[in-house]
Formats: sequence, structure tokens, C-alpha cells
Amino acid sequence: VECGLRLTILKTIPKELLSCRIENLNEVLTGPTLLDIEGESEQTLFISTLLHGNETTSFLVLQKWLLQFQKTKPSKRLLIFLGNIAAAVRGLRQLPDGPDYNRIWESGPWPEHNLASEVFIYAKQFPLFANIDIHNNTGKNPFYACINVLSEEAIKLANLFSKKVVYFTEPSQVQSMAFAELCPSMTIEAGLPGNEVATNEVIRVLDCLMRRQSFHELSIDRDVQIYHTFGRIKIAHHASVDFEYSQDSQAELSFDCSLDDKNFEILPINSRLGFIKNPQVLTVIDNRGEEITDEIFSFNAGEIRTKQIIIPSMFTKNITIMKDDCLGYIMERMKI
Ligand SMILES: [Zn+2]
Repeated sequence: VECGLRLTILKTIPKELLSCRIENLNEVLTGPTLLDIEGESEQTLFISTLLHGNETTSFLVLQKWLLQFQKTKPSKRLLIFLGNIAAAVRGLRQLPDGPDYNRIWESGPWPEHNLASEVFIYAKQFPLFANIDIHNNTGKNPFYACINVLSEEAIKLANLFSKKVVYFTEPSQVQSMAFAELCPSMTIEAGLPGNEVATNEVIRVLDCLMRRQSFHELSIDRDVQIYHTFGRIKIAHHASVDFEYSQDSQAELSFDCSLDDKNFEILPINSRLGFIKNPQVLTVIDNRGEEITDEIFSFNAGEIRTKQIIIPSMFTKNITIMKDDCLGYIMERMKI
């Protein structure tokens, strides 16, 4: 096992964790860590943090929220996973030579797959009340929550954080998908990193869950909006990209500079997202892994235009993330 990849389980909250700077986190923790904090009851809340090292809201939430449990026992047992410490210290989503920590929750070849499985097996021995995996976006998005199962309990859980709920099943290797087997489970997408409003909103959800004994005590807002993700837009690694929004650009892809303002907006047919020189560098993949580019976009005269009404999410202007992960997702509204 590579150094810094062993799971450390701690039964107390390290004091320095609550005050250290994220870039010094490796002085407090040796690597991926699971805090197992006994509560008044055995009912257990699982909180997943820093699966993406540059998404700092989860860390800020812990620093603020855990202060109260230095002296008093929490009402429920807390299992808190701090994932990609090495990437967090460097301000990166993931290490350049390592896997994405939110794609390791199915079996696979990396040592990190074993790490995730160890965390899952440990958590499974407790009566889990809910699982929350806290993330940020790299592009502008409203606050929303994602679920991987369309159960009433999962919708109630997501609705605690936002009226915007995204249901997705691909990628399937995410933490919230694995834990959905054990309890109501969600991913929180708390806007851009470092926003204090986001930190407080996540804390509000955690406090609320700590007070409830059962999901019967929760309800679903009448105006909750459920979206279903049916496509991912992939950008080729070798593609040159800019945001000049110009046909004369030298880049193979020249996107609308306000691309991420379109997240959760309804884009009418024939909306132009940018210009493309080489149609091979942009593809849309559906949930079965099949290419559906032709159903979604036309590339006539080098313009990227929508062929149907789409609702984007997670559109990002970060070129590295666009290529490593995706440009964003395409959604449709669902009725429940
Ligand atoms: Zn993330």
C-alpha cells in the first residue's frame, strides 16, 4: 500500500482539525480518515467530506459544526470520512496520478477502491440514519442535492437542502450511490467553494437530521423540482478550448463565456453554446454509455446549437475539469 493511503479510524475529534488551515491538513491527519464519534443513540449519521480536495465547503462545515461536540456527545453517532487529504492540501480536485475519490465506490483496480470498500464495510455495521456527501461545483450553479434512488425518503433528504433535486444513476461509482444501499443518501452540491452561506445551509441540514428520529417527521415541498440527468458532455483531452465565443478563434472549441450561467436554465431549441472547428472533440454520452451527440447538438457552419430543449447542470469553465470529468450534464424535468 502506498504511503498515505491507509485508512485511519479515530474515536475522538483531533483538536487541531478544527482550527488548522486546509493546506496544513497533512500535519493533523496522516491520510484518509474516518472519525467514529459515539452518540447518545446508536442511530448513525454518515458525513462524507473532501472526496474532491478543492471543494472546501465540507471542510469548513466540519470546522464549524464539530466545535460543539468537543464537550457534549452528539445525539447520534457520527461517522465522518475525510477523503482525499493529499489533494486537499494541494488545492486539487484529485492528484494528477491518482483516481477521483468520488469514482472509487465500486470495485476496481486502484488501492483507493479498497479504501472506499473498507469505509463502506465499517459503516455498514451501524444503523445508518442518512448519508450525506458534501461537494462544491467549479461553475456557477444554484444549491442543489443529488439522489441515486427515487424513494420518498431520498427525496425528503434532498429536499432538506434544496427544492432542486437531481436524480442520476451515472456515474454509478459515486459515494452516494454506494450508500443508497444502506440508508437514504444524497450528494449536496453547495455552489462554489468557500461560500459562507453554503456552509451555514449545510449545517442547517445536519442539525435538522440530528434532531429527527425518523423520516416520517420530514415532508416534501409541493414545489420541489426533480431533474433527471440523461447525458454527459465529454471534451477530448487534446482539444484546445477558449471562451472567446468567436468563430474566428484559433481554438477548436470557443464557448459562450457565460456558459455556467446557464446551469438549471431551460435552453430552447437552437440555443448557441459556442463554436466548434472539429466535431470529434465534443460528444454527448447517455446513461448506457451510448453516444447521443446528434440528438442533442447540431454543428452546422461550425456553430454548436441545441436540437432539443435541454437543462444543463454543472457546466464548468474550468478546462482541466471539463476534460478530466465532463463539461457538464444534460437534464430533463421529472414528474413525481
Ligand atoms: Zn465534487
